[in-house]
Amino acid sequence: MVAKRHYKEERTLVIIKPDSIQRSLIGEIISRFERIGLKLIGLKFTVATAKQVEEHYTLDPEWRLVTGEKNISAYKAKGLKHPYEGDPYKVTDFILKKLIKYFTSGPVILSVWQGAHAVAVVRKLVGGTEPLTSDVGTIRGDFVLDSYEMADGDGRAVRNLVHASGSVKEAEAEIKHWFKRAELVSYKHLSESILYDINLDGILE
Ligand code: ADP
Ligand code: MG
Repeated sequence: MVAKRHYKEERTLVIIKPDSIQRSLIGEIISRFERIGLKLIGLKFTVATAKQVEEHYTLDPEWRLVTGEKNISAYKAKGLKHPYEGDPYKVTDFILKKLIKYFTSGPVILSVWQGAHAVAVVRKLVGGTEPLTSDVGTIRGDFVLDSYEMADGDGRAVRNLVHASGSVKEAEAEIKHWFKRAELVSYKHLSESILYDINLDGILE
């Protein structure tokens, strides 16, 4: 039987996209993950290739369908009709081409974060996909102002500053895709004692 991992061992992948770097937001973005208590265990500064980006988005066979449908529903919620309403796969084919152009336009930062509920916590801090409707207080809600309609009208990807894994399964596959095992660092962070220690002994002298 495989032992169930403790919550504090959950990991997620964050990619700081080229627009963040051009907007000088690296520190601002990283500080949000640091200050909530997540531990940085992997970091790379690089220019991604088209192949790496396409593989990244198609690691999950469901991604084409889910993302196409999400885009169509977002149009519906605003009372608009999507030009490819009945065909989510066609929608995502276009999105993928635009995403490759976006992701390879400049350097990106790849990072792996570990901590309790890392996947959900990071998604919460990052906010919804479309900056126009992502919550105030989130990275996408606070620092950028794009929308599906504007990006689609201009034939480009939605510029939303960061990628964050959508589920634990997605995170595991994405981390493997971008990082070798030896590139992830195993170490203790001092804040882990106050976050996870059960007895809280050793504080009082
Ligand atoms: P998320 O990044 O929130 O997980 P998705 O996985 O659905 O979102 O989509 C991946 C990325 O593709 C988005 O972050 C965004 O940059 C881009 N994108 C999604 N939908 C569209 C769209 N309709 N038009 C242009 N770009 C899009
Ligand atoms: Mg996604």
